Parts: sequence; C-alpha cells; structure tokens
Amino acid sequence: MNVTIDKSSGFCWGVVRTIEIAEQEMGGGDDLYSLGDIIHNPMEIHRLGDKGLKTISVAEMEKAKGKRVLIRAHGEPPSTYKRAEELGITLIDATCPVVTKVQERIRKFYLDGYQVVIFGKKEHAEVIGLIGQTNGQAIVVKSVEDVEKVKLDGKTVLFSQTTMDKPTFHKIKEELQNRIKDLVVGSFEDEAIEFHAKDTICGQVSGRDAKIREFAKANDIVIFVAGRHSSNGKVLFAISKEANPRTYFIEDSSELQAEWFHEAENVGITGATSTPQWLMEQVKAAIEAKFVPALTAG
Ligand code: SF4
Repeated sequence: MNVTIDKSSGFCWGVVRTIEIAEQEMGGGDDLYSLGDIIHNPMEIHRLGDKGLKTISVAEMEKAKGKRVLIRAHGEPPSTYKRAEELGITLIDATCPVVTKVQERIRKFYLDGYQVVIFGKKEHAEVIGLIGQTNGQAIVVKSVEDVEKVKLDGKTVLFSQTTMDKPTFHKIKEELQNRIKDLVVGSFEDEAIEFHAKDTICGQVSGRDAKIREFAKANDIVIFVAGRHSSNGKVLFAISKEANPRTYFIEDSSELQAEWFHEAENVGITGATSTPQWLMEQVKAAIEAKFVPALTAG
C-alpha cells in the first residue's frame, strides 16, 4: 500500500502568516488572546494553546482588558476595533490581506450608496466582519434560492466570502442579472438597475479545485483531514468526494476505520487550507502503523 500526502494541500499563505504572527507574539511571554479560534482546526488550536495562546469570544473581550489580542485571518467588523480601544486592548491584527482587501472594497461600495449582497454564511466570522463594513446593512445569500430575499430597488453589488465555491457564485450572479432584466421598464435597457458582481473567492481556495480532483482520481481512497467547522474543508471535501466516492473525512487519526482500506493500493491524504502539515503526517504514520501491517498479514 502506498500512502501519499497531497503536495498542494495544507495551509494557505494567509493562515501560515496568521500562525507565524501568533507564534512571534507569544515569544514575548505576555498573555496573548485570540478572538475566536485562530484556525478551524482543533489539533492546531491545542498545539498553540500549549504554547500559551488563549481563546476568547468578542463577548468576553473584557477579560483581556489592557492585554494583547490577536485578530485572526477571518478579520473582524469595525465594532470590535472600537471595543478594543475602549478596553485598552492592544490589537495584533493578523487579518489575511486578501480579506482586508474585500472589507475595503465592500466599505467603498456601501459608502457610494450601493446595496451590498454577500454570497456566504451569515454566522461565519469572515462574513460578520464583511457585514460590519456596511453598518449591518448587507444582505447575505448562501444559495441561488436565497436570491429571492434581495429587494432590487437600487444599485446593487454582489461580493463573496473568500472560501465559497465559484459555480454557485456565478449562478447567483446570473439569477440577480435575470431578475434585474425582468425589472426593466418597457424596452429602455438603461432604466435597468446598476449591478456589479465582484468575484472575491480566494485563489488559494479556488485553485485547489482542479488539483484536489486530480489527486482524488489518482488514488483508490482519499483520507480528507480537516476541522469539522472549516468552511473551506467542506467545499474541498465535497469536490474530492465527487471525484472519488471513497473519500473519508476525519479530524484526526483516531477516526480512521479499517474497512475503508479494503483493497486500497494507493491511499491519498489531503486536507483544507486550515489543515496543518504535521497533522497529515501524523495521519500517514498512523495508517502505516495500524493498517498496512494488518492488511499485509490478512
Ligand atoms: S484562503 Fe485565501 S483569504 Fe482565506 S486566509 Fe487563506 S489566503 Fe487568506
């Protein structure tokens, strides 16, 4: 049995950067708090927790009064920055630069009087940060069906959470365009509502689609390692499963099941942009230690 780790899987540069910032800041010895889980991967949270990183929610910010608080890659809404200032908190802003750019663009359109529509998940930390740029006015849609709730009575712009999937983004864009066309009064095209669609899906995520598909097809089974709350993990897992139905999702090696490896000559290990390399290596070692000898013996 050959066990291979997907070379193009693992942390995206935005996450690598955030973790590097956290590790540098923890070197000083003073308390460092992360606003929410630094990454959607429980194993990596434990590793950093052992080094001293504490996690608090926005509602618990008072606990970090006068201390240092890290803003993770997903970013935060302006209200968090304001609250930190009130509490004398020193913010270590590790927002991914790609997310910062999306925040800035959304703010600009909002201030220019556009209705902002965001393709994303309402409860996702990044989306909360994006909605905050519009004073809570942005409308969040997570599917084509949701487009119905967008009231088209003014100039409108569509953005995306950085980890959503491109095909659905384009379907939502088309649906909005069609609805706007239907609103044109008489035959005067120029009376249509002004509409722009900004594809802000991160290249680090969308570029992985094709690679993960290829990797999944090249292996008999695929072990997909990610945190269950990772949005990017869910998208990439679905792509891998579509390309190879024998794709299994795990958070760590304790979830591996012997029957998955039945007649599997080539086993591939891959993961989300939040999956650490060391964790995939641990999974590889566990497969080789637990399943390879058992299968050989059987
Ligand atoms: S997936 Fe893209 S936007 Fe998200 S943290 Fe990574 S680099 Fe930044």
